[in-house]
Amino acid sequence: ETFGDLGLAEWAVKTCWELGMQKPRRVQQVCIPRVLEGRHVLGIDETGSGKTAAFALPVLHRLAEHPFGVFALVVTPTRELAFQLAEQFRALGSAVQLRITVVVGGMDMLKQAKDLVARPHIVIATPGRIHVLLRDNPDISPVFSKTKFLVLDEADRVLDVCFQEELKFIFQCLPENRQNLFFSATTTSNLQKLRERYKEKMYVYEA
Ligand code: AMP
Repeated sequence: ETFGDLGLAEWAVKTCWELGMQKPRRVQQVCIPRVLEGRHVLGIDETGSGKTAAFALPVLHRLAEHPFGVFALVVTPTRELAFQLAEQFRALGSAVQLRITVVVGGMDMLKQAKDLVARPHIVIATPGRIHVLLRDNPDISPVFSKTKFLVLDEADRVLDVCFQEELKFIFQCLPENRQNLFFSATTTSNLQKLRERYKEKMYVYEA
């Protein structure tokens, strides 16, 4: 099976090939078609299994079809992971015009607020910082009013580092009809709770 067989656009298949990704990994084979179908997806697989491309490729595919406003909010537990994710999105999305903003702690918050108001396509954030920005700047939550995807990368760890109320606040700033993509290396009780909230509405892939 090739990336083309999964329903991805030609440019995405070509980019994968150029990045040395000839054959989709299992998590990608299973999850990419489900994301393209519009399902909520929970993907659980070990570190290094290719989870990033399993959500980044279908998000980029959909973004290229319809680029407007903030398209995806990707929440990840640490600054380092946020910058790595941005790199991967840039590499996988090199064929499309893409504006990405990274919003993490320890960096100029005023600049981050300005970057968000400029409506990038993809926002990659740590939960604490995006929560503070949304809470303290009335200009910012409207920026997210048409967001199509919420991604929790390393969802188990996001749920560990993040207060329930913070996450609830972030979720509430996003439209109800968004697609949720949760990816994780382990199943924790917090993740189990989140999974129960979506029940049969969410497709679950567990390696
Ligand atoms: P991840 O689990 O997303 O952190 O990915 C682990 C590593 O596998 C990254 O360096 C990816 O570039 C690489 N990778 C992901 N998918 C594939 C693939 N289908 N073929 C070859 N390498 C891949």
